[in-house]
Amino acid sequence: MSVWDDVVGQGAAVDVLRRAVADPRSMTHAWLLTGPPGSGRSVAARAFAAALQCTGSDGETGGCGRCHQCTTTLAGTHPDLTVVATDQVTIRIDEVRDLIGTAARTPSLGRFRVIVVEDADRMAERTTNVLLKAIEEPPTHTVWVLCAPSPQDVLPTIRSRARAVALRVPPAEAVAELVTRRDGVDPAVALAAARAAQSHVGLARRLARDPEARRRRSAVLDVARRIRGVGDAVLAAGELVDVAKAEAAAATQERDAVERAELLRALGAADGETLPPRLRSQLRQLEDDQKRRATRRQRDVLDRAMVDLLSLYRDVLVLQLGADVDLVNGLDPADLAVVRALAADSGPEQTVRRMDAIGVARERLEGNVAPLLALEAMAIALRPQG
Ligand SMILES: [Zn+2]
Repeated sequence: MSVWDDVVGQGAAVDVLRRAVADPRSMTHAWLLTGPPGSGRSVAARAFAAALQCTGSDGETGGCGRCHQCTTTLAGTHPDLTVVATDQVTIRIDEVRDLIGTAARTPSLGRFRVIVVEDADRMAERTTNVLLKAIEEPPTHTVWVLCAPSPQDVLPTIRSRARAVALRVPPAEAVAELVTRRDGVDPAVALAAARAAQSHVGLARRLARDPEARRRRSAVLDVARRIRGVGDAVLAAGELVDVAKAEAAAATQERDAVERAELLRALGAADGETLPPRLRSQLRQLEDDQKRRATRRQRDVLDRAMVDLLSLYRDVLVLQLGADVDLVNGLDPADLAVVRALAADSGPEQTVRRMDAIGVARERLEGNVAPLLALEAMAIALRPQG
């Protein structure tokens, strides 16, 4: 057993990180871990942090996975590990200033102070410049691990000062094996989930464990089959947006209420009471943050639905061209039926046009076009032609 066990399908990247842990000459104080969403960036970052702190057990060092340093780092409770995982659209400049303060402190228990920034691409340029100063002249005991989808997602100044390690999309079989091992899920269900999630580890685990999540995904795919005319298209777009809103609300509501109660308690006020202006502005800031978080969540849920739809038409195209590759949606009988029906009902040119329409909708959502508008235009383009 080792801390690297859950970093699946990333042999080359793991080799680089292990070498850095084992050999001080291979070590550096700023790392840029890149890989597509779900490739396991944050899992790899934590494993690296644990390996750096590991004091060893049974003669095994460099991330034994059993010593106190390893287990507390992996559990996220090690006092010398700080993980910044934003669910906001951007990481705020005052958060980064706090981080830099933390980074300057000597480690209390471990060999290093490790700071993991999970979404280093979500920083305004001004914020990045503040961070840059800290990375340029780090205390010897501090290690920064910045994570981003690709090196191009961070400023060149950061790129040039951090050692880049690239993760790739792991094979579906490796993801399925992980899901079976960690969650005790039946191997066939795990493989179907890993394929459907296109090897996104977190998503594969959710799909494998939660029948409701599988049902929601199938419902999104089924939307494509049901669009016959403009009326259906408009309805389908509304449905997709509503589902995303509901899912985002379910995920954030409970936490919002807790945060609000905590803030009011900290301010010594009761909910419903009229607050003095100074306190009101603090509450308003929290509400703004929460609103941004809900928006971001909704956008993520919608984008995931677009990716699922793209995978559907990708499979349709595979059948239409008779290509000999695995289908993303081939292991769920209901999803496969939708793929087959669409393949029989259209030609490859239309499939490509439909995929383009989904791509355009994703770009518009990213560019902050109102979700319903973007999705209506997309759904209308998904209608059967001629
Ligand atoms: Zn250890």
